[in-house]
Amino acid sequence: MKYRTWLEIDSSSIIYNLKTARKLIGNKVQLMTVVKSNAYGHGIIEMSKCVVSEGIDWLGVDSLEEALLIRESGIKTPILVLGYIVKENLKKAVENDISIVAYNKETLAELSKLKKPAKIHIKVETGTMRQGVLLEDLEEFIRCAKKSSNLTIEGIYTHFANIEDTTDHSFAKEQLHKFNQALQIAKELKIKPLAHTACSAALILFPETHFDLVRFGISMYGYWSSPQTFISSREKKNNIELKTALSWKSVIAQIKNVKSSTPVGYGLMEKTNQDTKIAIVPVGYWDGYDRKLSSVGNVLVGGKRCKIIGRICMNMLMVDINHLPNVKVEDEVVLIGRQDEENITVEELAQKVGTINYEIITRINPLIPRIYI
Ligand SMILES: *Cc1c(COP(=O)(O)O)cnc(C)c1O
Repeated sequence: MKYRTWLEIDSSSIIYNLKTARKLIGNKVQLMTVVKSNAYGHGIIEMSKCVVSEGIDWLGVDSLEEALLIRESGIKTPILVLGYIVKENLKKAVENDISIVAYNKETLAELSKLKKPAKIHIKVETGTMRQGVLLEDLEEFIRCAKKSSNLTIEGIYTHFANIEDTTDHSFAKEQLHKFNQALQIAKELKIKPLAHTACSAALILFPETHFDLVRFGISMYGYWSSPQTFISSREKKNNIELKTALSWKSVIAQIKNVKSSTPVGYGLMEKTNQDTKIAIVPVGYWDGYDRKLSSVGNVLVGGKRCKIIGRICMNMLMVDINHLPNVKVEDEVVLIGRQDEENITVEELAQKVGTINYEIITRINPLIPRIYI
């Protein structure tokens, strides 16, 4: 089957990035690969299979639904659900041997009613102010969890609020200090769960955040968490390289010559400024190609950049190919990735629409076929 739009995922890049992480953390620290949000657009099942065959220790997901998909595919690797599970579904998580984040007493109460033992990771609030137990409530929370005989406190963790958006890491250091206090509380209560704090940026920049396990997300897919993370990494002279795996491709559906001053697309927002050859590409905002790229985005055809002309539609976009003499229908179009000497990065798209690389890749429609190389 030939597709009109598809993603190509180069698994060797993923494996390279995993090896890079492993070198940084050594053999004593466990590696959790985060495959939430359809593995950051790369395809949750295929990516889970790929990383499991590379010997990772844990899979991290956001939702129970994602965890169940992975279990249904036959993968037995430990899974931690990092996001909220509604009380009614906790039983399902436990039955499928899925570890659960815990930060409210209602969850603990529900879990202690179940017959099967549950494994929890207590989330500690150290400054991100989203899910987590405040430090002043932690002792009581742990006591409450310990009271229930069918609860195993398997992990304790936190998440940094300001480790990737800045080269000033003082807030992250404060959070780390608070987390160490949390570990002290756990120790006094005679529990020693797996401690973890590190996302990609922390993994790459700060060995003191590694503890027992790291949660490796965006950089496994070859992306820097931010330009600041890249800069900080270079300042530390650790010379880490990351390799991206994802390209997004399509084909030309039609080519036509339009006269100068012809408006193109919905709302007649952009007019040709000369007689112009345009190509129609069957990709639109439904596919996850941001509508804010209208009139400003570029795609590659024949190894050359072509500007999007007019508004991006739900399922189509139009590009100016006036400078390309030998283009024909079904020639390859690259929306993200390399074609000959040219390259369109996820960061270029993110910058043009005012967002971060994370949003660009996680929003690529999961229904688009992924081809694994
Ligand atoms: C998504 C997520 C991660 C992964 O973060 P990256 O910056 O993509 O490495 C780690 N921990 C938690 C709690 C997350 O939600």
